[in-house]
Amino acid sequence: MSPVRLADVRRIASGRGRKPSDADGIAIEQALREYRSQAGPPLSPFSLEVDGRPYTSFLDALDDSSASFRTARLRLSEPPADPESWRFLRPWSSIDLGSDGSAQFLAPKGAPDRALARFRLVDRYDPGRGVRMPPQLGGPFPLAAFVAWMRDRSILPLGIVLDLYFPSERIRYPLDLVRGVALPDRRAGRLPEARFVRRPTRVSWELDRRLAGGELSPIAVRTLETLAEVNGASEAELESWVGGSVRESLKVLTQSHLATQDTAAGTYHLQLEALMRPASRTSSSAGSAVAGSALREGVTELLAAAEARATCPLCGDLLPPGYTRLLCAKCEGEVGGVSRAPR
Ligand SMILES: [Zn+2]
Repeated sequence: MSPVRLADVRRIASGRGRKPSDADGIAIEQALREYRSQAGPPLSPFSLEVDGRPYTSFLDALDDSSASFRTARLRLSEPPADPESWRFLRPWSSIDLGSDGSAQFLAPKGAPDRALARFRLVDRYDPGRGVRMPPQLGGPFPLAAFVAWMRDRSILPLGIVLDLYFPSERIRYPLDLVRGVALPDRRAGRLPEARFVRRPTRVSWELDRRLAGGELSPIAVRTLETLAEVNGASEAELESWVGGSVRESLKVLTQSHLATQDTAAGTYHLQLEALMRPASRTSSSAGSAVAGSALREGVTELLAAAEARATCPLCGDLLPPGYTRLLCAKCEGEVGGVSRAPR
């Protein structure tokens, strides 16, 4: 995919309720320059087809009101061969997004796989105010709903995340829409692999809903993302992995009971019970039994806490106790190969 052109962004921004001016052009140019200066090295450029038609950029497709985004195909043009580039990711060569919110996942090597696909906004430009903005949080959405949500709000996305929920794990793929490239995982080269903890898909699902829910600042989102996939970390460690000051974020996360601090060890931990039992949902027996307990991170506790309310996101059926997958067995069957055994 080609990098997005300034003229395109200008045209797209102006098509959204305002007349373009020289000042707009300067503001857009500055926002894009700032975005590029903060963006790290890419993983690979990607190409995009929407409704079976090729587009030069995601923004072009977003701007084309005839593009429904019911289906789309992402293809990496230069997938790297070295495993180092793919740290914390599953290597892919193409991803077909279906109208049912599922994805057909093709790896450079190995059998194809199926996943549930959801999108989140992480960086955007606000044409109305002429500034680059932290995301207006929402979602995570299936692709067509994501696009409709952005079109309704005249959002110009600069960076988005594609979350793929495989039966055994969720993988998070950041996409840079300004340069038209897929990005490596932000933690690659920072977070030692030995510290990384892959959560069951159901846990990641709840986590991502919380991340997108609009309650947390962008830096708190990154702190929680990072904290969620390690077994505890100090403030200094989190700062080096997140790449910025996390003190305020840790305060907010502990106050909202998403994290606890082990004062003796000087470490912070994800509070899984709080994550799996959002305050907005009705509490039941498991809540009071684990309330106030610190530093419980075992999958057993986590699943015990989740069981009371876990439902299938597609059909809403209650899931059986101990179930770690996202979809119920019936829906897994209907979506297609999602019921494959975990790797
Ligand atoms: Zn279901």
